[in-house]
Amino acid sequence: MSSVELSVVIPVFNEEEALPALAERLRPVLDGTGETYEVVAVDDGSTDGTAGQLTRLRADWPELRVVRLRRNSGHQAALTAGLHHARGHYTASLDADLQDPPEKIPEMLALARSRHLDIVYGVRGNRSSDTGFKRRTAGAYYWLVRRVVGGHVSAQAGDFRLLSREALDALKALPDQPQVYRLLMPWFGFPSGEITYRRDPRVAGRTKYPLRKMVLLAVDSVIGFSVAPLRLAVWLGVLAFAVCLGMVAYTLAVYAAGDTTRGWTSLIIAVLFVGSVQLICLGVVGEYIGRIYTAVQRRPTYYVADDTAAAVAPGAAVT
Ligand code: UDP
Ligand code: MG
Repeated sequence: MSSVELSVVIPVFNEEEALPALAERLRPVLDGTGETYEVVAVDDGSTDGTAGQLTRLRADWPELRVVRLRRNSGHQAALTAGLHHARGHYTASLDADLQDPPEKIPEMLALARSRHLDIVYGVRGNRSSDTGFKRRTAGAYYWLVRRVVGGHVSAQAGDFRLLSREALDALKALPDQPQVYRLLMPWFGFPSGEITYRRDPRVAGRTKYPLRKMVLLAVDSVIGFSVAPLRLAVWLGVLAFAVCLGMVAYTLAVYAAGDTTRGWTSLIIAVLFVGSVQLICLGVVGEYIGRIYTAVQRRPTYYVADDTAAAVAPGAAVT
């Protein structure tokens, strides 16, 4: 397996409009470093002209490597595929829409080398280019994960980061489950540093993160890193029990007073209250069981259709 100094992993999903601009900005930066490098573009089952664009770009950019996934597997899975295929001593991950400035990559590399860091996070110093809605939802997300997962998670660190070979190998040694890398990487505890950058607006096209996917990411983040929701379920149960004890006392008092026909309202309230607490707790338990189920199935999170750097026929499984 040939190796290069720097790999740049880019998940790409329906980004035909952004790709030319990306290549135009990224290539001079990487050529300018004087390092050996590869760009691993992971085509996450794009249905627009992305595949054609990548082939065209590759024609005169030999360092560009395209790993094509069989179907759309999602941002984190595409990122996983890219990280698994990267061969560099250092590996940077970058979005295709130029929201993360490629010019910062050499800076990250220099910082990692000079301070012997295994991870350099790109931290968004300023999100003024994001919509108010995106900023508020992101704010709520980082508030939640810092509370539930722990304060060591850097607020505003997205998926723009640089990993050393050692950090990447640690990551690759984990079972192939969908991972929320922005939370997983701090968990390892490697020496790490940060560079701040300005998050630019998307260069072209539309966000591939609708609200639905943001909610799923938040659920994955919490459930994947904490059992706090299970504890919360226990406390909800305790609360429901306490309320029910009160209701029992009240019912007995009413009974003792010989007035047994009253109590329809409290009966309905009690039934609904206990019922909803049970459903919520069941749902929380179900989320964990669902993850256990997926984990024991051990299905890979992505399938590679072909990799321009691999000496295997297209269609063969690449590991
Ligand atoms: N992406 C992907 N698969 C998906 C969704 C997104 O590979 O199913 C890529 C997308 O092309 C981009 C990166 O992941 O390079 C981040 O997505 P996006 O910019 O839409 O997210 P946002 O910046 O709006 O959070
Ligand atoms: Mg983006």
